[in-house]
Amino acid sequence: MTIVDHADPIDHEALRRKYREERDKRIRPDGNEQYIEPTGRFANLLEDPYVERVERDPVVQDIDVALIGAGFSGLCTGARLKAAGVTDIHLIDGAGDVGGVWYWNRYPGAMCDTAAMVYLPLLEETGTIPSKKYVFAPEIHAHAKRIAETFDLYDGAFLSTQVKTLEWDDASSRWIIRTDRGDEIRARFVAMGTGPLNRPKLPGIPGIESFAGHAFHTSRWDYEFTGGDPNGAPMVNLADKRVGIIGTGATAVQCIPPLARDSGELFVFQRTPSSIDVRNNHEIDEDWFHDLEPGWQKKWLRNFATLQTGGFEPEDLVKDGWTDIAQRIRDRIVAEMSKEGAVVGPETMLKAFEDSDDEKMEEIRHRVDEIVADHDTAEHLKPWYRQLCKRPCFHDEYLQAYNIPTCHLVDTDGKGVERIDETGVWVGGVHYDLDVLIFASGFEFGTEYGRRCGYETIGRDGLTLSEKWANGMRTMHGMHVHGFPNLFILQLTQGGNLISNITHNLVEGGTAVASIVSHALETGDTVVEVTQEAEDAWIQRLSSGGMTFLGNPDCTPGYYNKEGQPLTEADRLNMLGYPGGPVAFFDYLDRWRSDGRFEGLEFTAPEA
Ligand code: NDP
Repeated sequence: MTIVDHADPIDHEALRRKYREERDKRIRPDGNEQYIEPTGRFANLLEDPYVERVERDPVVQDIDVALIGAGFSGLCTGARLKAAGVTDIHLIDGAGDVGGVWYWNRYPGAMCDTAAMVYLPLLEETGTIPSKKYVFAPEIHAHAKRIAETFDLYDGAFLSTQVKTLEWDDASSRWIIRTDRGDEIRARFVAMGTGPLNRPKLPGIPGIESFAGHAFHTSRWDYEFTGGDPNGAPMVNLADKRVGIIGTGATAVQCIPPLARDSGELFVFQRTPSSIDVRNNHEIDEDWFHDLEPGWQKKWLRNFATLQTGGFEPEDLVKDGWTDIAQRIRDRIVAEMSKEGAVVGPETMLKAFEDSDDEKMEEIRHRVDEIVADHDTAEHLKPWYRQLCKRPCFHDEYLQAYNIPTCHLVDTDGKGVERIDETGVWVGGVHYDLDVLIFASGFEFGTEYGRRCGYETIGRDGLTLSEKWANGMRTMHGMHVHGFPNLFILQLTQGGNLISNITHNLVEGGTAVASIVSHALETGDTVVEVTQEAEDAWIQRLSSGGMTFLGNPDCTPGYYNKEGQPLTEADRLNMLGYPGGPVAFFDYLDRWRSDGRFEGLEFTAPEA
């Protein structure tokens, strides 16, 4: 379909119609319910294939701080606590090592789409130089380990240890953590960073259990079966195999190029194409890096967050697809608003936003034509939605993979795979024989909090966090929950909500936790709880702002917008961010913790 001849202006109306048609094609009544939990033959997808489980005796121990989740949230908070003089800190994680999402995701080609200079936290504190502008998963995992080593966070860590319950004990003013090792850890404070996308989900395709070949999810890559390794060694065992992959999201986009290179035949089952912008990766010059002034990372973080959220900076330090998207929209809004007689208001802003988005997406579709040799394949790889409707992707080898004769795109015209049987996959009445089936079907999002954590958090009077949040999340700063004293939730919603650079949120949050805990330990007032009034006031303050692009029901379905289902009040709460945007939130949080009053929190001495 041609909406635009590149010499001509874009027909915005025709584009809107096309976007609507494509969206409507994909809306399903079962929404999030179309996905299933890995059970039965797939139950092993929730296990850790990367380490041998070593039995040990249960531990009963009183500690100051438990950090549940040893990904960047736990690590950054641990580092900040250590820097603040809090030493009795223990990481707890079901994984065999630190790293969180970068521990689990070892699929070939895995890398971070956010530039390493801002994504990798605590670069200055750990004396680290990233090797490239965008780094691959093994380097990110190594960095997570480096943080743990630098700040002695391996000491006393409980790894390969899954929390089973987390319960507040009023009598001792401690959290009692019970684990699958039979441990009873009694922590004065708990910081919980279990990640937003950590539980693999599978498509509920009829017959999925019946496939007799080898099958796995991208977050548990089976190198023993495929050969190769996370550093990119060829997956030699696939050379004589017919491999199928279901999904074309951010994960699939990264692992399809190495799969296309190494598989006998590769079949990519696509429901919705991702938008693929240029990557332009390059090495980091060490001389240039050494010339950066102390404090550079803070400056870079602020610069990226400001530009990425529509603000102005004299220079774009990161200069990538993320800042490009935001600056285009911002500049278009400024241009529209500066026109003579322009009405300054939401409609003008929306038009400017849509126009710049249309332009960007035309470029992205044009890029497909430039790269993909086969016309029909190119047509099917074109995304027909606004760029931020789905996770934007950036890659310089993904589209090129479809020029390899053994790499086949099987487009399902928005319908998805029809069914799976013992020997393969059915699409549009055609059967594809497969030896291996890989699920790049993503992670649970928006399901009950306790289910995603893998354990329930029980606060005062037996109230669980899932019950407390049954009608939507309620916090102060996204971190403090009334009825759950001494608990800090490490994540971005109802706080900075900067999704283009998750770790920035985690460093700022960790810094706040360190201030609170060190203050409590110094004063002896070690029971800390947000008041009901402060929690309510925070929600009210956040509700005064507009919605983020996340949750937009006009978008093509996906986990960003609850698979296109109408949003409830609970969904709205679960997507809120600070009205002034991330930079304003980080400034606010810094002032809030620095003045020593910690407004909204009550500090009391334990009863005993
Ligand atoms: P996603 O949820 O983004 O993608 C799942 C894919 O499976 C989609 O393409 C979906 O199609 C497809 N799918 C689901 N059901 C079917 C079906 N029945 N038939 C055919 N296809 C189906 O998961 P990802 O793992 O790709 O990414 C999750 C998130 O992880 C990203 O959004 C990103 O936040 C993060 N990530 C970050 C990276 C980084 O650079 N930092 C790299 C990789 C991931 P449809 O689109 O139609 O729903």
